[in-house]
Order: sequence, then C-alpha cells, then structure tokens
Amino acid sequence: MNRYLENFKNKLVEIDFETLEEDPHSIYAVDENFNLIYFNEAYFQFARDNDGEPQITNNHSLGSNILSAIKGDIKKIYAQALTEVLTTGKSKNLSYECSSIKKYRLFMQRLYPLKKAKGVVIINSLQVESELKNVASHLEKNYLQETGFINQCSNCRRTQSAIDINKWDWVPSYISTMPKNMSHTICPICFDYYWKNI
Ligand SMILES: [Zn+2]
Repeated sequence: MNRYLENFKNKLVEIDFETLEEDPHSIYAVDENFNLIYFNEAYFQFARDNDGEPQITNNHSLGSNILSAIKGDIKKIYAQALTEVLTTGKSKNLSYECSSIKKYRLFMQRLYPLKKAKGVVIINSLQVESELKNVASHLEKNYLQETGFINQCSNCRRTQSAIDINKWDWVPSYISTMPKNMSHTICPICFDYYWKNI
C-alpha cells in the first residue's frame, strides 16, 4: 500500500524524508486543502498495536480529507489549528485524548507548516502525566540519561526517553518545573526543520 502521494517528497523542503520515515512517532501530513498526502510506517504500527486496523486505513486513505474522519467539537478545533499554522507559518502544539479500551492516554501533536509548498506535517508524541505520589523519581526512571542529564528539545520542548532514545515525549511537569539537571538539545525533526537549511 502506498503511504504517500508522488508529489509529497517535492513538497517536503524543510524536513528530510528519511527523518520522517525513521521516526518512531506516528506522523502524517496534509496539503493546503487538508487532504492526506503522507503517513509514516510508525503511523500504521501504532494503529496495529491499538487494534485500529483495517478501519484506520479504510477511513484515512491518501487523498481523503482529514476533517472527514474527525467528529464533533474536535473537528472545528483541528480545522482552526491547521488554518492557523498555514497562515502564520508558525508551528503549534495541540494536546488531545486518544484512549484505548485498556488505557487512558493523552497525546501532544505538533503541527509543522511546510512553507514553500503549503501543507502541514503532524507529529504525535505521548503526553506523560504521572498521578503517582513520587512523581520526580518516577519520571527520572524514564528520562534520566546515562550522562546524568534529562534532555529536552529547546524548540518543541519534548523530552527524550532514556528507555528508547529515539522517542521524545511531552512531559508537562518538565515544562512547568525545569529540573536542575535539564540539558537543552534538539530533536531530529526540529533539527531538520529549524537548522538543516541554514
Ligand atoms: Zn523538537
């Protein structure tokens, strides 16, 4: 099955195609009319892991409008967010709930506008909030690197997982209270988007 339209690679000036392909986060892209033009492999892996297939593929096919697959109030919020990043040319974060039967989950979605060809690349990251009493030590277990530092992307402010260094999660506690051993770095997507072409 095709995961992207032929012209997608030409539209993608700001981010390397390989960076999206290798990213373990679920990523997709839409054109200026909000029609789907790309899905990375991790998008389908996520759908399979969450028993979303084959419905996800059937409902979100290439060329179809992303808004047609969204219902209720979210649809309006989503349309506004996409319009905003396309008109301002500035990236934007959106938090949303995507719970499965077994688990309550929040995700952070970051929208990167493609400026030259008009379109939006959408990256989904897990939002990590802990209800545990000892939040700091619980988070450290997952985010403290061997170097003794917690790495946060200075642009999108996602935190690098210490368990899988390719994963970058949205950890609100690290935004509200910055740990002393926080090290600012740059995630692969933001590296491409903000620095590669300078
Ligand atoms: Zn980043």
